[in-house]
Amino acid sequence: MTMQTLVLVKPDGVRRGLTGEVIRRIEAKGYTLAQLKKLTATREMLAEHYAEHEGKPFYEPLVEFMLSGPVVAMVLEGERCIEGFRSLAGATDPTAAAPGTIRGDLGRDWGAKVQENIVHGSDSPESAAREIGIWFPA
Ligand code: UDP
Ligand code: MG
Repeated sequence: MTMQTLVLVKPDGVRRGLTGEVIRRIEAKGYTLAQLKKLTATREMLAEHYAEHEGKPFYEPLVEFMLSGPVVAMVLEGERCIEGFRSLAGATDPTAAAPGTIRGDLGRDWGAKVQENIVHGSDSPESAAREIGIWFPA
């Protein structure tokens, strides 16, 4: 089966007009955009999506941030696209993320309780399957 990953342009990325720039980098890398939609998440979707982070200090700010506006959700396809997109995205902390990456080039610390870092990408095949089911239910 073709490898797939779930990518979100987070509300900060959509607000700042960076959706096209994120898609441009994905397409330039060579991954296929299999599905794409703009939507506003619900608390229920985010509780599932970020279940692994429940109880951490940044969890509530993260959920509020992800509810603060629409996101653009995508399914990418391509050999090793899970690690490939994580590499395009860069490190979680945009201040530390390497130049050349989405977070390193386009993100910064705004002094908020959560890092607003433009994109999400699944971190394993299991996460990708689970997350695609949340954002693109059959
Ligand atoms: N996050 C944060 N502070 C942290 C860790 C995470 O604000 O110390 C936020 C950040 O927006 C991140 C999200 O929570 O993208 C999910 O965290 P994860 O560790 O899964 O990072 P990612 O996989 O997005 O790089
Ligand atoms: Mg993660």
